[in-house]
Amino acid sequence: MGKTYIFGHKNPDTDSIISSIVMADFERKMGNEDVISCRLGMVNKETEYVLNYVGVQEPELIEDLEDGAEVIIVDTANPGELIPNLSNVKIKKIVDHHQVLLNTAYPLFYRAEPVGCTETIMYKLYKENNLEINKKIATLMLSAIISDTLLLKSPTCTPDDVKAVKELSKIAEIEYEKYGLEMLKAGTDLSSFTIEQILNLDAKSYKFKETNSIIAQVNTASIPEVMKMKEDLEKGINKIIKEKNLDLFMFLITDIINSNSQTITLGRRADIVEKAYKVKLENNTALLPGVVSRKKQVIPIITENA
Ligand code: MG
Ligand code: MG
Ligand code: MG
Repeated sequence: MGKTYIFGHKNPDTDSIISSIVMADFERKMGNEDVISCRLGMVNKETEYVLNYVGVQEPELIEDLEDGAEVIIVDTANPGELIPNLSNVKIKKIVDHHQVLLNTAYPLFYRAEPVGCTETIMYKLYKENNLEINKKIATLMLSAIISDTLLLKSPTCTPDDVKAVKELSKIAEIEYEKYGLEMLKAGTDLSSFTIEQILNLDAKSYKFKETNSIIAQVNTASIPEVMKMKEDLEKGINKIIKEKNLDLFMFLITDIINSNSQTITLGRRADIVEKAYKVKLENNTALLPGVVSRKKQVIPIITENA
């Protein structure tokens, strides 16, 4: 048997990167030695903070794989977010907490739960298989859960996520609230990125009926700080709209302290956002009070109003 490549989605977030590392540890403990953690894009600042803290190397960057390669997919089940020749590789497992958008012509291990983070499911898998979670792995897992649930404050957070964080923080010997805030803040440092990179850090493509869209998000501790770049962000967004022939680009600047988002929305279907949130976009922008989760508070509402 050849290598098994493990990876999450493009524009990887902390959960995608950490899940590829943790899944490799899990597989090795289950007796599958020949596994390799991979990523489909640049590591963001928040993830970099975690990897440095724990002292773990970033997964290997890949763009595609040879036909027939064996893979494990984590933190997505959306073919559009994966490698181009997905239909020619052999998917052995998927562990995810998103909408199921992928099917195969053959059976596979598929574990999906509507929890806040892939790592909450991985935590259960270790338990179910009586596998030990060491301090490093515990720190990684809890970091991913804190990231995806914005320190357990996001509406995507479930009691299972809270339980996992509490138990993992004991193993990791970490005060998760203090550590988590530092970690989230590290992710708000956009100083080394170009406008194009900022718009791409956490961007996902969607098709809502006939509306080709991108919904991108950045975390911040200060919305006004990011809004200083508004003009450049708008230029960047308009460029992407033109290049990709989009109908809608919704950019969310999410305040992780106060749990609000400011949106900059452009495109000829920007009206969908106005209708969905009953707001008026003034100079292409509006505050969306209480909105922090793309998965729960944006995608379903935009789908309904498209
Ligand atoms: Mg993710
Ligand atoms: Mg996730
Ligand atoms: Mg996210």
